[in-house]
Amino acid sequence: MNNIVIDLHSHSTISDGLLSPRELINHAHNKNVNVLALTDHDDIAGLAEAKKEAERVKMTFINGVEISVTWRKRTLHIVGLRFDSSNENLKKNLSLIRKGRNTRAQKMAHSLGLAGIGNAYEGAKKYARSGTLGRIHFARFIVEQGYAKDIKSVFKKYLIQGKPGFVEHEWASLGDAVQWINDAGGSAVIAHPGRYDMGSKLYPVLFDEFKELGGAAIEVISGSQDPSQTKYFSECASKYDLLASCGSDFHGPGISFREMGKPQPMPPAVTPVWRDWHEVHASFQ
Ligand code: AMP
Ligand code: MN
Ligand code: MN
Ligand code: MN
Repeated sequence: MNNIVIDLHSHSTISDGLLSPRELINHAHNKNVNVLALTDHDDIAGLAEAKKEAERVKMTFINGVEISVTWRKRTLHIVGLRFDSSNENLKKNLSLIRKGRNTRAQKMAHSLGLAGIGNAYEGAKKYARSGTLGRIHFARFIVEQGYAKDIKSVFKKYLIQGKPGFVEHEWASLGDAVQWINDAGGSAVIAHPGRYDMGSKLYPVLFDEFKELGGAAIEVISGSQDPSQTKYFSECASKYDLLASCGSDFHGPGISFREMGKPQPMPPAVTPVWRDWHEVHASFQ
């Protein structure tokens, strides 16, 4: 019963993953994942295809999205889970964020141009669906052009604060993102909290405010987070009365922080975000 594998954070070609929603489901299935959420950046266009394929392979599928948020001048990611994907307000606001992504991409390309990397907008676009242009697509273009040997080194020399290709961007507010998710019947989760590097003073402020705004959970386990932080975030979950989530943040075979299907175990002290989700409990049988 405890062997069930739950992964509530993953990406497809709809945003910056390498596998289509259908391929992602099959990959997860082959890695023995029992419950999967597809959480593309600011886009839910892959959910229908993923759900259909999950039904075919008899895997439990959870609707998801990863919303880009600006909080106190920092970019945070808020995962929304198990919402109604036909919710018009959520769809409308995600489409506005994607418009902002496009404007940001043009500015990023301009900045890369000043550093001698030309045609980056068109180059990045080749790797993306229109609308969800993100830093990874630029990173792939930069590698293609030979300015860096791999994606990892791109994110050292380019696209990060203080380096060519980085632009400040105002995303959604934390309160708005939580509200859109809640109004669509879902649960809001702070994605990979360990990646924000906020220091021990600011984390409590964030968790407190997130709870106050109606947030449900934090990713205690994340493939893109140092496992040594699990204990701290588990304690935070208990302290701020938040549930715990778990996800690989898978982007594609070989390029991800972590493969699917091998999550660290959830600490026994936390309450999982899927506590009341009947379809997850059904997968335990
Ligand atoms: P964006 O939302 O367009 O700013 O892009 C954020 C995405 O870039 C993340 O979801 C990751 O997929 C990717 N990313 C950011 N930093 C790194 C890194 N150091 N290595 C690999 N991918 C990264
Ligand atoms: Mn990504
Ligand atoms: Mn993220
Ligand atoms: Mn992610």
